Amino acid sequence: MISVEEALEKVLSYVEVLEPERKPILDCLGQVLAEDVYSTIDIPPLDNSAMDGYALRARDIRGAGESSPRYLVVVGEVAAGAMPKEDVRPGTAIRIMTGAPLPVGADAVVRFEDTDEVNRKSSGGNLSQIGILCQAKKGLNVRGRGEDIAKGDLILKKGRVLRPQEIGVLASLGRSTALVIRRPVVAILATGDELIGVDQPLAPGKIHDSNNYTIAAEVSRYGGIPKILGIGRDSVRSLTEKIDKGLDADMLITSGGVSKGDYDIVKDVLAEHGEVGFWTVCMKPGKPLAFGVIRKTEGGKEKKVPHLGLPGNPVSSMVTFEQFARPAILKMMGKKILAKPAIRAIIEDDVVDTDGRRLFARVSVTKRGSQYYASVTGPQGSGILTSMARANGLAVIPENSKGVKAGDLVEVQMLDWGEEQGEVGTLSIVSIVGKSQSGKTMLMEQLIAEFKRRGYKVAALKHSRGGMEIDHPGKDSWRYAQAGSDAVLISSPDKLAFIKSLEHDLGIEEILPMIGPEFDLVLVEGFKKSKIPKIEVHRKKLGDDLLCSPDELSAIVTDGSLDNDIPQLPWSDPVTVADFIEKNFVLKSQGSAFVSPRRKKVR
Ligand code: AMP
Ligand code: MG
Repeated sequence: MISVEEALEKVLSYVEVLEPERKPILDCLGQVLAEDVYSTIDIPPLDNSAMDGYALRARDIRGAGESSPRYLVVVGEVAAGAMPKEDVRPGTAIRIMTGAPLPVGADAVVRFEDTDEVNRKSSGGNLSQIGILCQAKKGLNVRGRGEDIAKGDLILKKGRVLRPQEIGVLASLGRSTALVIRRPVVAILATGDELIGVDQPLAPGKIHDSNNYTIAAEVSRYGGIPKILGIGRDSVRSLTEKIDKGLDADMLITSGGVSKGDYDIVKDVLAEHGEVGFWTVCMKPGKPLAFGVIRKTEGGKEKKVPHLGLPGNPVSSMVTFEQFARPAILKMMGKKILAKPAIRAIIEDDVVDTDGRRLFARVSVTKRGSQYYASVTGPQGSGILTSMARANGLAVIPENSKGVKAGDLVEVQMLDWGEEQGEVGTLSIVSIVGKSQSGKTMLMEQLIAEFKRRGYKVAALKHSRGGMEIDHPGKDSWRYAQAGSDAVLISSPDKLAFIKSLEHDLGIEEILPMIGPEFDLVLVEGFKKSKIPKIEVHRKKLGDDLLCSPDELSAIVTDGSLDNDIPQLPWSDPVTVADFIEKNFVLKSQGSAFVSPRRKKVR
């Protein structure tokens, strides 16, 4: 049995980034730019007005106000798209519309609202003159030439994924086409004698083929071009014939026929046409997976088409598609970020995982406050496609974990989030609570040292109800604070301190985003009212009662024994406490020991 990571590495080693093609910009959405794009023009091309108003010379209206208007002679008007016919000379103004080029001589624009134009019009006044009711600085309401883009600048770099805004930038540069990495054509073949098309009535023993549809839709979602080959029967002839039709594609994805059933002959057919490997991947659903290449001759040359054989069960085929086909397609498209964005969520159901494989549980993720929660979407059989339809995430239950309990922290791949979003994973966090004098700080010290020893990057957070004094009188930072600065930052070659005045006592949710994503574990002392996972330190000498209600606690560290069913950990053994935290709150590293999955890059 090979791990999910090993399988992915192999799949990726078989696919290459495709060649670039030049095409109309509107067809490039989601594709990767294969050229550096420089601007040959300034945008905006001329100084122009950001408002409807009057273009004038700032110095002509010095001292102007509501009660002391400055009167200027209106010498013309200019609309967007036209060029001014007159210049602005001392004592004159030109009526100007948003986007119209600024007339020669003018250096500011005053809005209609700051003139007497409306009054003048309603009182039938003379419009060859205008009263300006405010002063202006040079440049007011003027958009400078080249302010957005300057001629000669590198605007979009090779490798950039084109979103609507980049496509707009290309358009504003006057580019109708772009050079982008080509989209892969993915041939798709469902196999099985039991399958019939969606437009055919069901007959006894038959089911509608759904895999062709989910897989084709997935291929499109990730930017590929699906080419459905139809349904292959469980016969050598039928399969050979269909597969032949898919050989002009960049990749072939089949579903079904790779398990151990008697009629599962896909593998035999594939073996005849190329190399094929059959893997038992340490995952559920989706254990059997075939991968290899199919050989073909093209113009006398032998070429190889990568082939991925997914299991037939609809959920298995989707889950394996997500883990293996999706990254392969993204790689072919030239994308660099292949990992699905993952978050950490509190699972709301027990999930058992008895056979030691990594389990991808279909979950529905919701956010309450700053915390994500994941609930399992009903029966999880690998044939129950509606469990997928109800899900927006796949909770990853690590191999050999025996499963998770409701309340545990799990990693969830967010199915509908784009890869470019990156990993937003909330931090691994646990708080140590307890009565005063229970030894919380000592446990914190021991845990910090233990986690450092285990190779983690740790942040420690303490709430001090009595205030704090960390900035010493006389220091520059102290003087800034005395002068009223709302925040003071001090940086040195090896440390950064951030001291901020607060209007209210911050909740943990408000503090966490400031900690930054680089820590594997945040250990908190206090914050007993927050919703983060809590471990209470209990000491016999302080009585049998607890500070927090038991149902809020993940564990109790005690030097006695308490009558409840919350896990109890020995006060004398911080290593055991660290083990518990590591198992329950730190996401399991999925490859080499102590490499946070967040920081591990998929090649
Ligand atoms: P197989 O991997 O071919 O043994 O198929 C496993 C299960 O998945 C069987 O119950 C099949 O009926 C089902 N299955 C296979 N292919 C499809 C498909 N294209 N659409 C829906 N169900 C399928
Ligand atoms: Mg089959």
